[in-house]
Amino acid sequence: MNFDFDDDQAALREFGLELAGRTEDAYWQEADLEYRFPQEFWDSLAEAGMLGIALPEEFGGGGKGLLELAIAVEGIAEGGGGMEGGSIFLAGPVFGGCLLDRHGTQAQKEAYLPGLASGQMCAGAFTEPESGSNITAIKTRAELRGDRYVINGQKVFISLVQQSQQIVVMARTQPYDPEHRTRGISLLLGDLPSDAVRTAPFKKLGNRFMDTNRVYFSDYEVPAENIVGEEGNAWGPLYDVLNPERIILGAAAVGTGNLCIRRAVEYAKERSPWGKPIGAYQSLQFPLAQARIHLESARLKVYQAAWLYDQGRDVGVAAAMAKYAAAHAALDAADWAIQVHGGAGYVVDSGIERHWRNLRLYRMSPVSDEMTLNYLAQQDLGLPRSY
Ligand SMILES: Cc1cc2nc3c(=O)[nH]c(=O)nc-3n(C[C@H](O)[C@H](O)[C@H](O)COP(=O)(O)OP(=O)(O)OC[C@H]3O[C@@H](n4cnc5c(N)ncnc54)[C@H](O)[C@@H]3O)c2cc1C
Repeated sequence: MNFDFDDDQAALREFGLELAGRTEDAYWQEADLEYRFPQEFWDSLAEAGMLGIALPEEFGGGGKGLLELAIAVEGIAEGGGGMEGGSIFLAGPVFGGCLLDRHGTQAQKEAYLPGLASGQMCAGAFTEPESGSNITAIKTRAELRGDRYVINGQKVFISLVQQSQQIVVMARTQPYDPEHRTRGISLLLGDLPSDAVRTAPFKKLGNRFMDTNRVYFSDYEVPAENIVGEEGNAWGPLYDVLNPERIILGAAAVGTGNLCIRRAVEYAKERSPWGKPIGAYQSLQFPLAQARIHLESARLKVYQAAWLYDQGRDVGVAAAMAKYAAAHAALDAADWAIQVHGGAGYVVDSGIERHWRNLRLYRMSPVSDEMTLNYLAQQDLGLPRSY
């Protein structure tokens, strides 16, 4: 077992750190306060070829794997980008890129992957208001009429719909069958914007740089050839989006947690209300050291999950563990970074509280703690389904 980065991986990490370091914290603060998408940063990622890292070279990508993407994302988050700079990668590389790379037809790859590698965005519309975590109970329907699927239904909490040129919609092409809950689910790749797709954005605790919306589909037409994978049999392809999503968010969280710890340590070395730096007190040293243990452990799990994905191996349990471990480690790190900063950590100008608000999301999204633990209880421990 070799835990060293190879040259390309080391270079990606360094470049991620450096690229993120070019952006002032004030930029992210403004995006947060104004609910503004960081278009300039996104453009710089596209220009540097970062969005296509894990996409095949023949479609304009870098020909690397999810592991390399995770390493780059972690570097960007740690270098100052935080969850904004890290989770933004879901918008194209994961929602559209991972899905089409594994399950797209040649025509779909040719039509969409070069755009995704160079800055087009793709939203992922899975969650619905009534069914929530119980995603097999979705009601959105896609009906084949001639050479088009016509989609009707409602989704909720869908991110980046207003920025995206494409959207992957999970819809039922056959009615729900309680005996075979995952059957009859299809994934359709539609183009945006469209008059048939209406959005209503939310105000939020964090993650404000991404629009998050109620989405209403009214006779939204998608060409029949844009179905991804087999009709009614998209449960497997869906998890080739949801697992990389967990892994990339885990990488972003680890980077953000380490960013928070670095800022806390810098502050703790300077701030001296009693005449010596607060970093000399064990009451602050211990939780910071513990946070580092949890972040480093989560980091290894993120890398292992990404590696398994790249090998084409079963990654469900590892991805669930990685995302859970990373989200908790990073949230705890951000919480202690606020504590170390005292009152200064609670105000916007410190650039600390924003990370806590952003990270809080990942105890409930894209899959909640409770659903993760349900899944691990069944899949890892072999215990019965409790719900
Ligand atoms: C900012 C933001 C961005 C998002 N972006 C997207 C996106 O781009 N695309 C997308 O499709 N979705 C997105 N989501 C949705 C997100 O994935 C869901 O919020 C999440 O899956 C939880 O679903 P829910 O909110 O309906 O919670 P619910 O399912 O209503 O759950 C509520 C609570 O009950 C618990 N619970 C539910 N069922 C069980 C059970 N069986 N056992 C134990 N506990 C249970 C949950 O863990 C949770 O604590 C986003 C959400 C947010 C807040």
